Amino acid sequence: MRRSISGVSFFDLEMKVVQTIDEIRGVVKQLQLRGKKVAFVPTMGALHDGHLSLIRIARRMAEHVVVSIYVNPEQFGPTEDFSSYPRTLERDLEFCEEEGVGTVFTPNDEIMYGSDEKFFSIEIDVLNKYLDGGSRPGYFQGIALVVNKLFNIVQPDIAVFGQKDYQQFQIIQQMVNEFNHDLELVMAPIERADDGLALSSRNAYLSEQERELAPLLIRKMRESVDQIQAGLLEPQSLFELKQKELEAKGFKNDYFNVFSMNQMEPVATLIKGETYVLATAVYLGKTRLIDNIIFEC
Ligand code: AMP
Repeated sequence: MRRSISGVSFFDLEMKVVQTIDEIRGVVKQLQLRGKKVAFVPTMGALHDGHLSLIRIARRMAEHVVVSIYVNPEQFGPTEDFSSYPRTLERDLEFCEEEGVGTVFTPNDEIMYGSDEKFFSIEIDVLNKYLDGGSRPGYFQGIALVVNKLFNIVQPDIAVFGQKDYQQFQIIQQMVNEFNHDLELVMAPIERADDGLALSSRNAYLSEQERELAPLLIRKMRESVDQIQAGLLEPQSLFELKQKELEAKGFKNDYFNVFSMNQMEPVATLIKGETYVLATAVYLGKTRLIDNIIFEC
């Protein structure tokens, strides 16, 4: 594999891997000075085809793609899977190189957060009340913090995020607007396995039996959207039924509901012609799965 750790030369096509803030800033600034657009894809690694689809979109939109790989401790709750989260850096770097990524930024905790006492945090209002915001205290504050820092560090022209984490996208879009980040945010569609399961780094936790069962979630979601589009405008009892069907197969439900596209609030009575997002989170064994469908009513 051709790869240089650090060292910035713009006359080779070799992918660079950099760890410090000065290095990544240097790479991006020099490119921008030469009139090149830089697109940024932040990730926590354990890359799969979902991440690669973001990289491909980024490549179409800019001359140079920066991918960050950093498992952000701030977005994990005390009982969540921070220590067991899959870390596959060597493989990730090979994927990035194959996809034509220009620079991979792999900071560590010291670089991202330093050791000094911290006095600032990001609070999020309405958008954080339901879905994962309601179920995982501190989760989106941790994401907003790290993405805010990454945007300030990398200062890209474009940043690409997945619809897979739709609430995250909305929160980041709002943060970009309110904090005046000078970049264009792009949402990439959800990449799925052939059986419909949304790709996720956490799918690696599923046992063989759980993996077989997992696509039932998207099937129940699609059935729900079909019924809504056939005219069911008050779908609460349908969602209760779908959740019971999932529970009977061994899923544990967190939420399964329709939410407004911008405010991320539950909607009990749907209006014909409006666009909504059906979003769910379930546990299958110890694995938390999330998924969503954007649909017109
Ligand atoms: P993560 O590494 O889980 O933090 O995800 C990094 C980025 O990849 C986020 O913008 C996610 O929304 C996106 N992503 C994760 N899974 C998928 C998928 N199946 N399809 C599209 N984008 C995804």
